[in-house]
Amino acid sequence: MPTYSVRNTASSCLGVTGNFSVKRDVYGYIWGPIDRELSVRKHLQRIKGKAINLCIFLVGHEPGFAGWWSQNEAQSIQIAVDVTRELYSQAGVGVRRLFWRYIPTDEATGYWSVDAGEATELTEDFTGPNNGIDVFFVKNVSDAGGWSNSSGPCDKDEKGERTGAVLELTSTDDCTGSGLCTGILMAHEVGHYLTLKHAGSLTNVMGDDSDGDGIGSINNTSVNLTTSQGNKMKKSCFIRPSC
Ligand SMILES: [Zn+2]
Repeated sequence: MPTYSVRNTASSCLGVTGNFSVKRDVYGYIWGPIDRELSVRKHLQRIKGKAINLCIFLVGHEPGFAGWWSQNEAQSIQIAVDVTRELYSQAGVGVRRLFWRYIPTDEATGYWSVDAGEATELTEDFTGPNNGIDVFFVKNVSDAGGWSNSSGPCDKDEKGERTGAVLELTSTDDCTGSGLCTGILMAHEVGHYLTLKHAGSLTNVMGDDSDGDGIGSINNTSVNLTTSQGNKMKKSCFIRPSC
């Protein structure tokens, strides 16, 4: 079993040196406690390999949680990221850096609830660092659980294209916690961005679209991701080299 030095990995993969917090600076979990068991060794192994970065936007956030989001909800998003990390590790794809961003409420007007078209407009109006995949959290997605692009453009300033994934926090009845469901949803939508199609199986992260309407079904059993799906993801321009 290989061992990894936190200090070396933080420096070579994340550019983090000096005095740092493992949870905040190595995992990127900035929103307070996370109710998940974390294995530092596994995490270092995952982020050192081929990996993506995520730029996560809270749409309508204000400092001190004075906007549309509560600290509990921000922590659910944090759990969702950790779930995505676990799901992607099956396919050998890491989630290395998290760039947290927020859109203040006065600039987020009209984006509290979005449909497919508004999701595209949102990703045209706002863009994060180009080496991360943009993931926008809105309070409500009116016509699905989330939207993405079936093969996201490498240049996020590309016009007329949805250049990110747009999600809501889900807490449907067949899930044990909103973090789990949202994590599966995040892995699913970012999976689309990384060129994956619906899998034709409800137990796969990429779910099933049995009625062919383009909206896939997933539930709390949609947790598998295969090596061949991982190999497909690794061809995306958003995959960062090992570090
Ligand atoms: Zn889908």
